[in-house]
Amino acid sequence: MKYIAFITSVLCLASSSLSYATTSASSNNAKLVNAVMPELMTLYMDLHQSPELSSVEFNTAKKLAKTARALGFEVTEQVGGTGVVAVLKNGQGPTVLIRADMDALPVKEQTGLAFASKVITTTEEGLQAHVMHACAHDTHMTSWIGTAKLLSENKENWSGTLVMILQPAEERGRGAKDMIADGLYKRFPKPDYALAFHNSASLKAGVIGYTPGFTFANVDSVNILVKGVGGHGAYPHATKDPIVLGARIVGALQTLVSRELDPQDPAVVTVGSFQSGTKHNIISDQALLLLTVRSYSDETRQTLLDGIARIAKGEGIAMGLPEKLLPEVIVKDEYTPATYNEPEFTKKMAQLFTVELGKERVIEVPAVMAGEDFGRYYKADNSIKSMIFWVGGVPFDKWQSAKETGEGLPSLHSPFWAPDARKVIATATQAMNSAVLTILAK
Ligand SMILES: [Zn+2]
Ligand SMILES: [Zn+2]
Repeated sequence: MKYIAFITSVLCLASSSLSYATTSASSNNAKLVNAVMPELMTLYMDLHQSPELSSVEFNTAKKLAKTARALGFEVTEQVGGTGVVAVLKNGQGPTVLIRADMDALPVKEQTGLAFASKVITTTEEGLQAHVMHACAHDTHMTSWIGTAKLLSENKENWSGTLVMILQPAEERGRGAKDMIADGLYKRFPKPDYALAFHNSASLKAGVIGYTPGFTFANVDSVNILVKGVGGHGAYPHATKDPIVLGARIVGALQTLVSRELDPQDPAVVTVGSFQSGTKHNIISDQALLLLTVRSYSDETRQTLLDGIARIAKGEGIAMGLPEKLLPEVIVKDEYTPATYNEPEFTKKMAQLFTVELGKERVIEVPAVMAGEDFGRYYKADNSIKSMIFWVGGVPFDKWQSAKETGEGLPSLHSPFWAPDARKVIATATQAMNSAVLTILAK
């Protein structure tokens, strides 16, 4: 809990600094968004048909960089790989960062849409793969352009600096890290506020969901290499069986969350893969366990990682293994930090969105254990007030029939995920535009 107390004490938003839009301002925002929707939908369909995998978003980045440049932004390409930074300076005032992610997934689209992706490419691993915007980052990018357009065309209504970024490789948890490492906060104006949204496959189209505080989890990948002494399955006494030891470790790991953490502190330790052996009658000499480990605070993360190492080693000792054969625990460096929505700022933005969209379209939702590398923008500098929110994409008819039939809806990353893109893009663009106009009010 120390972590939360620290953040809330450091980040204290001056409540008087953000005033809310009036109803007339919000209907004006809605009108402005409606006027740009036809061209945004054309862009959306184009992006949807030309998805690119993580870190190779070359054409996407080039295309959108060109559009941002035409809107009057100062655009720098190839920041942290294919990342794009578009800056618009418009007088005195704070700096607001808006992020959209660009990457698609190796999924074969089965939405049946007229503009479905038919792209096939070669992955980093040399495999042939279909590519689809199955996480609908195409809606994020389209709204990003919509927001850039509205704000660049209405510069008389705000004062400050806009830093709009297109981030590569979100799906690999790498893009934000690479852009920050490439000088995002040094080569470009450092943001006071950071905003992003993600489309949601569990909210009705056009509904905004927000979570003050932690909203996405710390994500660690951990390998446990269980060593043993192999031999004949009929002579187990002459071996040290890594499958038995691995199974003990898997069992003991279940007590980490259930017996070592406060029940109010959510966490996950999942063994997603357990590989060992080749044949019925051979005792293998090693097993490999692959774990995903999820938490919110830094402290809980450390408790879990320390616990995994202790349990693996302890079970090895209990098995009677010599020091050199004790299990090896490797915490992979693919860590994605938890995403923290600064609570005061988040609540103010939620109130603003309520004025904009009506209270039935803005709801508080629980945090999730999924990962999002947007958390890095805040993690790299705790003085930035940051917020990511959900924008519902489930089409009304699908929502209704799922309710009536009890059948599930496709999730993000599903080959069937076809959000109501028009609603997602219009809602997100209106929300972002109003957020910036409020934060950078003259
Ligand atoms: Zn995704
Ligand atoms: Zn995503």
